[in-house]
Amino acid sequence: MESLKIYLDKDINQDLIKSKKIAIIGFGSQGYGQGLNLKDSGCNVIFGLRQGGDSDIKAKDYGLTTMPISEAVKHADIIQILIPDEVQAKVYNEEIEPYLRDGQYLMFSHGFNIHYGFIKPPKGINVLMVAPKAPGHTVRSEYKAGRGVPSLIAVYNDVSGDAKEIALSYASAIGSGRTGIIETTFREETETDLFGEQAVLCGGCSALIKTAFDTLVEAGYSPYMAYFEVCHELKLIVDLIYEGGIEDMHYSVSNNAEYGDLTRGSVLINSNVKSEMKRILADIQNGKYADEFMQEMNSGGEHFARLRAESSGHLIEKIGSEIRSSFNWGRENRLIDKSRN
Ligand code: NAD
Ligand code: MG
Repeated sequence: MESLKIYLDKDINQDLIKSKKIAIIGFGSQGYGQGLNLKDSGCNVIFGLRQGGDSDIKAKDYGLTTMPISEAVKHADIIQILIPDEVQAKVYNEEIEPYLRDGQYLMFSHGFNIHYGFIKPPKGINVLMVAPKAPGHTVRSEYKAGRGVPSLIAVYNDVSGDAKEIALSYASAIGSGRTGIIETTFREETETDLFGEQAVLCGGCSALIKTAFDTLVEAGYSPYMAYFEVCHELKLIVDLIYEGGIEDMHYSVSNNAEYGDLTRGSVLINSNVKSEMKRILADIQNGKYADEFMQEMNSGGEHFARLRAESSGHLIEKIGSEIRSSFNWGRENRLIDKSRN
């Protein structure tokens, strides 16, 4: 295994990105985080948005310059596409590609549409990625705190010969050079990102919490106790793992908890789970998952809406919101204010 090369601000020329006109398409989670950070770093940035829409109103509220998407594409050297993955191809075909000119830089924060071929840019366009490894609201809050979140960069098509330097310079301007920037490929970023979300971060984690909650409640325990044990405390454990690995978590919990971990964890997450993980990974690699997602979203998303409603109707959500509103943690310095970002 090669050792990891980490790029920091000292290795990067930030003037490069400051000499370019940047258009951010979208003012959602990442558009908000990346866009405001670029502006505060002194970059020339405008926003391509549906005029008069919610995002346009929010962006103007921050004093940002907005234009229709097609105008933003014509105006800019660098076009960073930060709208949901499932609408990117349609918006690209109708409002971006017809206005592109050779030598421009088309940028993404997730390789999904390029890797699976839903977007096929012309040969004369540079295609690159800067993908912060954090939600957009955290990209912003860390930057404002003088820190930054790590980012991945990748180059898919380098026409101008400086696509990697542009990616590094952009990543630095959103704050990632304060923490570290790593180079990868579109394929690796896309496939590992989807797998991480499905197996651990979102899918595995939510299902583990809900299944454990149901087990306790069905056995007659208080749902409030169940919430504290299998959901609330998870954050405290993850904070320890984040800071010092599983080893430091073990150092901090009791011997009793550590013994329970080492003897019971692998009984639960056993070879059957690993086989399922391999199947999930295979569907990501062969494009089956991507096709399913796009088909679902392009045909009205009914199944998705049903699943979403089912998930929000779970008892843990009701108990959780009751508990969170009765205690005083987490109410100050909230990252998300849905009316503004
Ligand atoms: P989002 O869902 O927050 O984007 C919403 C924005 O897209 C809004 O401005 C909305 O008006 C606009 N939009 C939606 N539909 C549109 C349409 N049809 N035409 C024009 N504009 C439209 O998006 P996001 O979560 O910030 O994700 C953007 C990209 O960043 C994606 O590729 C995603 O995979 C990637 N990414 C996201 C995160 C994250 O934290 N959310 C993290 C890493 C990478
Ligand atoms: Mg991810």
